Amino acid sequence: MNKTKPIYINNDTWGDGLPSLVLGPCSVENTEQMQETYEFMHNKEIKNIRGGAYKPRTSPYDFQGLGKMGLDLLNESKSNYDFNIISEIMDPRDVCLAETYLDVIQIGSRNMQNFSLLKEVGKSRKPILLKRGLSSTIKEFINAAEYIYAAGNENIILCERGIRTFENYTRNTLDISAVPILKQETQFPIMVDVTHSTGVKSLMIPCMKAAIAAGADVIMAEVHPNPSQALSDSKQQMNFKEASRFIEEFEQFNKKMFD
Ligand code: PEP
Ligand code: MN
Repeated sequence: MNKTKPIYINNDTWGDGLPSLVLGPCSVENTEQMQETYEFMHNKEIKNIRGGAYKPRTSPYDFQGLGKMGLDLLNESKSNYDFNIISEIMDPRDVCLAETYLDVIQIGSRNMQNFSLLKEVGKSRKPILLKRGLSSTIKEFINAAEYIYAAGNENIILCERGIRTFENYTRNTLDISAVPILKQETQFPIMVDVTHSTGVKSLMIPCMKAAIAAGADVIMAEVHPNPSQALSDSKQQMNFKEASRFIEEFEQFNKKMFD
């Protein structure tokens, strides 16, 4: 069994034995949406915000994200709040930009085997959140992380976000056994994304608990002030009321597990 090496991100530590929580909208859309989200998260004492500026959409006709303007909106939080900022990039040419704006750089599922991108973020000193490919085996996932590691960046977080199976009740199938396998096989903190793995709001709390019980170091979920109006993933984002309950259950479950 490998011992997880914690990753220190400003005011939070991922992989120190006490699960961390990352919340935020699927896409950064506008100032108002982000201000409301910042206020909500600040009041709930959530340290990590994640929002998409560059969105890897399956259809080219869907909202593609605000790009650099989205990073600017995320960065505006720095004047009033102290969040760790996480966002995805898709292009190796954006690594420099991401380094100045972000505390953690996300590589999404669709780019898990974009080797040029993996090598480029491997040269960065920023922590890299690597999401498991849509239909990737655990071995392929670990090898993708090795690309980053071999290029010199040891600060990697692996994210289980569900895999494609025949089951269609859920958006993807949360591979819960990937959590202890990745804990055994690697030294990296493990995140579980309960939003994209389930795509069903009523499953997010039980799956969050299962993930923590299985050893997850970080839990990620999407939240939006007005999910039905969201420009991406409108069905699966929690509103603030739902997110409040999620946070409460997260805190209570951690108390039971770790106090
Ligand atoms: C995301 O995390 O915003 C996302 C698009 O998810 P995934 O890459 O896991 O599909
Ligand atoms: Mn999403």
